Amino acid sequence: MRAVDIIAAKRDGQQLTEEQINWFIDTYTAGDLPDYQAAAFLMAVYLNGMSREETHNLTMALINSGDRVDLSAITDYAVDKHSSGGVGDKTTLVVLPLVAAMGVPVAKMSGRGLGFTGGTLDKMESIGGYNVNLSAQQFREQAQRLGLVLAGQTGDLAPADGKLYALRDVTATVSSLPLIASSIMSKKIAGGAQGIVLDVKAGRGAFMQTVEAARELAQIMVDIGKDSGRDVIALISDMNQPLGSAVGNALELEEAIETLNGGGPEDFKAHCLEVAAHMMTLAGRGETWTDHDRVRKQLAETLASGSAFTKFREMVQAQGGDVGMIDDTALLPRAPVEHIVRSDRAGYISVLAADTIGIAAMQLGAGRERKEDPVNHAVGLKVHVHVGDEITPESPLITIHADSEEQVEPVVNALKMGIEYSESPLEPLPLFYDFIRSDEG
Ligand code: URA
Repeated sequence: MRAVDIIAAKRDGQQLTEEQINWFIDTYTAGDLPDYQAAAFLMAVYLNGMSREETHNLTMALINSGDRVDLSAITDYAVDKHSSGGVGDKTTLVVLPLVAAMGVPVAKMSGRGLGFTGGTLDKMESIGGYNVNLSAQQFREQAQRLGLVLAGQTGDLAPADGKLYALRDVTATVSSLPLIASSIMSKKIAGGAQGIVLDVKAGRGAFMQTVEAARELAQIMVDIGKDSGRDVIALISDMNQPLGSAVGNALELEEAIETLNGGGPEDFKAHCLEVAAHMMTLAGRGETWTDHDRVRKQLAETLASGSAFTKFREMVQAQGGDVGMIDDTALLPRAPVEHIVRSDRAGYISVLAADTIGIAAMQLGAGRERKEDPVNHAVGLKVHVHVGDEITPESPLITIHADSEEQVEPVVNALKMGIEYSESPLEPLPLFYDFIRSDEG
């Protein structure tokens, strides 16, 4: 086979065969194809798309380029979740121990934040000593012993995706639905999951800005799961405003701990219960956990009982983290400067722009622009309002947690651009827009 023929076929809108896709990905992964040919291939896919069959074959080729995690010694049906990324999205920190406390083991590999999207590993590293770099053996052993592990990637999962993603990043080919869907699903499937809950965010703080685009991406991922023998449910959730209140690493961890102890913001808690309920349903595969409302109620009771927090604490201890910091969150990293942004009018919040708020948190140092940048765990924002809330003059809107006084003024100005008001009452934003399941249709 010749790379140029495969590129030409895709350029001309033809459907690639499984053999062509496998050959291209294998040869590129082995280092036997130059980046310029892979870049041309990516652009041809970007412009002409891929059929369902091609997207499935691409996903399988990405998976087969590296290791697969075998969780069969821990459970005969592993569940996992994936969020497409958002502002204030600390769902994993609550949902994993919650589901584990209900007896469903979860062994999850997470990533770091990039741009204004926060990363689970960065949030967990707010806890002094918490080790995200486990060996494959440590990862498996802890999953077996505790039924809960949350770490960075072990082994070489879908290395072809890593190589291609780096190239997509610099060739304007990231935002292609088949490329995004195959990239995400290859890592989930290689990670050993049989049941996958996808939290696909839609809105101005998300990769997919509209519900329609998020739905389209979700459907492709659900189809990949279906064609690979996996059970998948995709939730299309709102990311026009931040989820919960906290944005920034230690602040988000603190909010997750509050929620694990039965408190926390109502929107965030409801979001976590929904995601966790779908994980439970998948884990029971329609046998034990079929009644969604009953599952959600049991999960809420588990949160209120503190047993999800106990599970989280066991995991933190097992991974070398300072449990004193989660028992008393005042010991978590704390920014020296706090400044409250207040409303200067009466009315109702009509826009609380997740992207603007995410960028402001990044400006404070909570996020990173490049992969190698450090993050400041202490800084961030606490959002005190949501869309639809009534405010009066001097109502607190957002508290800025900054490293210095100099940071405050530019962040205040930036944040003000992201808040809009209405004279008349308006409805709160929904948490979810749609659900797409692999066992439907
Ligand atoms: N996240 C991924 O893992 N891959 C993409 O292509 C986009 C987001």
